[in-house]
Amino acid sequence: MTFEGLLKNSPDIKKAFDFSKKAHSGQKRKNGEPYFNHPLATAKTIIEEWKFDDLATTAAALLHDVAEDTPHDINEIKKNFSEEIVFLVDGVTKLGHVKYRGIETRIENMRKFILALSKDIRVLLIKLADRLHNMRTLNALPPQKQRRIALETMEIYAPLAYRLGMFKVSGELEDLAFPYIYPQEHKWLLENVKEKFEEREKYAKKIIPIITERLKSNNVLLTKIDFRAKRYASLYRKLLKHEMNLDDIHDLVAIRAIVPTIENCYNALGVIHKIWQPLPNRIKDYIALPKINGYKSLHTTIFGPEQKIIEIQIRTPEMHEIAENGIAAHWAYQKNKAAIISSAQEMSLVQKLRNWQTNKASNLEDLKIDFFKDRIMSLTPKGEVIDLPQDSTPVDFAYQIHSEVGNHCVGAKINGRIASLDTKLKSGDLVEILLQKNKLPSEAWLSFVKTTNAKNHIRSALKYKKMGLLRHENTETELKIVVEDRIGILNDITKIIARSHINIMSHQSHSVKDKFKTVKIVCDLINKDKLEKLIIKLKEIKGVKSVEHHFI
Ligand code: MN
Repeated sequence: MTFEGLLKNSPDIKKAFDFSKKAHSGQKRKNGEPYFNHPLATAKTIIEEWKFDDLATTAAALLHDVAEDTPHDINEIKKNFSEEIVFLVDGVTKLGHVKYRGIETRIENMRKFILALSKDIRVLLIKLADRLHNMRTLNALPPQKQRRIALETMEIYAPLAYRLGMFKVSGELEDLAFPYIYPQEHKWLLENVKEKFEEREKYAKKIIPIITERLKSNNVLLTKIDFRAKRYASLYRKLLKHEMNLDDIHDLVAIRAIVPTIENCYNALGVIHKIWQPLPNRIKDYIALPKINGYKSLHTTIFGPEQKIIEIQIRTPEMHEIAENGIAAHWAYQKNKAAIISSAQEMSLVQKLRNWQTNKASNLEDLKIDFFKDRIMSLTPKGEVIDLPQDSTPVDFAYQIHSEVGNHCVGAKINGRIASLDTKLKSGDLVEILLQKNKLPSEAWLSFVKTTNAKNHIRSALKYKKMGLLRHENTETELKIVVEDRIGILNDITKIIARSHINIMSHQSHSVKDKFKTVKIVCDLINKDKLEKLIIKLKEIKGVKSVEHHFI
């Protein structure tokens, strides 16, 4: 189904198309083209690239930026479109409020938040298509924004796409982000891999007809055969594991044979092994034993014609479609019972999605993902995600940020309105904690707080209160920085810290492995804003691989 086809045949799509085009008229994107091109590209990706031909999703994709970026608010959309479409648009708009803040420990929270707000898998598909188009056009933005959006894409959206089994999208998002985050590494790869790539591609093109002919003469049916080049971002990750030695990478270019049935897969493998000797330990049967994320294929690495090593992947069209488009592909292959979502700890999500894809027609309720139903994902005014158990209150929220925030909390605003401290929070709530210095917790809080963290801190603060003492728990911050060692790196790090007017109390470093080193720096307690800025600056130093912090 093409987008144009839908536009002609569906009055709903036509209406959303016209509404969005009008709402965005006069607006331009940073590269000068009409803004409407963006929602249009988002809708086209869903329909044409992922073949996810759901009318409400397409309409919502067209409308996804109307409420946020034009004078037409969600109420106006409500007046004109179905509840289902409004729900999807509202979900995508809410996702836009969460911002990447760059501190490692919070990244997982942000992913959870996005999943929790995407109660309907279609919200996430629209968001991914939206992000994909933004990444494809990222070069028009100013450098600072490019970097933030690229980091957010690499840390949040690419892994989410991966979890949904959408490996093609996840790979493309990573590759689009890679040069903005690792410009030097990207340059290195281009310079050092290009020749190897070209040489391998030439070889693949040469041997495809030979393999085709051999399979045919052995009566193996072949739907399609071509090759794929390994993506830069994943190549870089693999090279890091192999001391940057390109000769260790056998799948720089791999041949991909698509055959009609599973039986054909094994037949093809047999024929190939009869003619060309396989490398030992490199035959992988992901059909009998699929990867944990549901990936299925046969892989083998052979000494091909001219005794050159090449990887061959064999799969059915269905396996191929699912390997590329994951959850979206199940829309088309709904009878397939395979699990598609990665990581074992998210089995409940897999279960949900399985249920959903087996009875697509029966009920839209099945599209709802409520596997985080016992968690509440709320936001600080800066868009940072705070993950809490159900029935948590602003006091729990405050203690989750920091014990001192909890201890001095006197009130709260929820979504801009003053609320009492025992109000039960909901996912997506934006919570602002009102503070008063020298204020201490009240005993009454113990009757409504939900988290053990809050309870413990309140009890301990009350104890000190009785003794007439004010207790300050944390006085210092420890930074743990993993670096790839080079001359002067320690100096660069301490210079950045000193320049931020932060006192270093002590520092020590030790080697972890080869050229890697861990540097531990203890400094005066730093407020969170300053700390976040410092961490971003530290991460920009050449050779710094990760920065963690905790208060001591
Ligand atoms: Mn958008």
